[in-house]
Amino acid sequence: TTGRKPLMAGNWKMNTTHLEAIGIVQKMAFALKEADYEAVEACVLPPFTAIRSVQTLVDADRLQIRYGAQDVSAHEKGAYTGEISALMLAKLGCSYTLAGHSERRQYHHEDDALVNAKVKAAFKHDLVPIMCVGEGLEVRKAGEHVAHTLAQVEGGLNKIPADQARRIVIAYEPVWAIGTGEVATPQDAQEVCAAVRTRLAELYDGDLADQVRILYGGSVKSDNVAGIMVQPDVDGALVGGASLDPAEFVKICRYRG
Ligand code: PEP
Repeated sequence: TTGRKPLMAGNWKMNTTHLEAIGIVQKMAFALKEADYEAVEACVLPPFTAIRSVQTLVDADRLQIRYGAQDVSAHEKGAYTGEISALMLAKLGCSYTLAGHSERRQYHHEDDALVNAKVKAAFKHDLVPIMCVGEGLEVRKAGEHVAHTLAQVEGGLNKIPADQARRIVIAYEPVWAIGTGEVATPQDAQEVCAAVRTRLAELYDGDLADQVRILYGGSVKSDNVAGIMVQPDVDGALVGGASLDPAEFVKICRYRG
């Protein structure tokens, strides 16, 4: 991971009222030290309704914690009831947004074309998309996990120019490992993350592929993060359940011990 600063991103999913969100960020801020921020980028992805509160806290105390959203609309503005635009998120100081999380793909029928449109919308407003890819259990059992994941990477990056693509974050999250306690082995994570990087080099160039951060996600906790982070093509983690516990998330950020 030389030259790539590890990113630890906490996906809170549909948890926390804005008051609870403030409590979590305050505890994280109290625990994280300068050395932690030098070692990793720590990021929280609260529900939309808590982002303004997190922004207020981060700005008031000049915290180095980054924050972002769990989803973004593919549309610029207009008659899209219930959606949140990239501009709205950018104006709230978001650095990142997830795009194509497996729960969005599964429950909201998001396909690669829509994920691609969301990635474009995010870049247009200088948000860095964390594009989620990964196979379900059937695909894994059939041994098709690499091909499946690379097809999602290609679909999501369709017509994304190199100057944007070099800033994207890709999160490899095998669906069978999300929220199940079933963590992929470090070798499983490395196999697919390395294949993603090779494909980036083919789609763009080796220099770009070397810059892109590729995260692993799926039941990451403080007691399994180190083995995953030691893999050469894994540049961080997308953490669901464990990120709601500030002490645990701080431990994950301190995976080097
Ligand atoms: C996620 O939702 O991105 C995730 C990885 O969840 P968990 O860590 O709970 O498996």
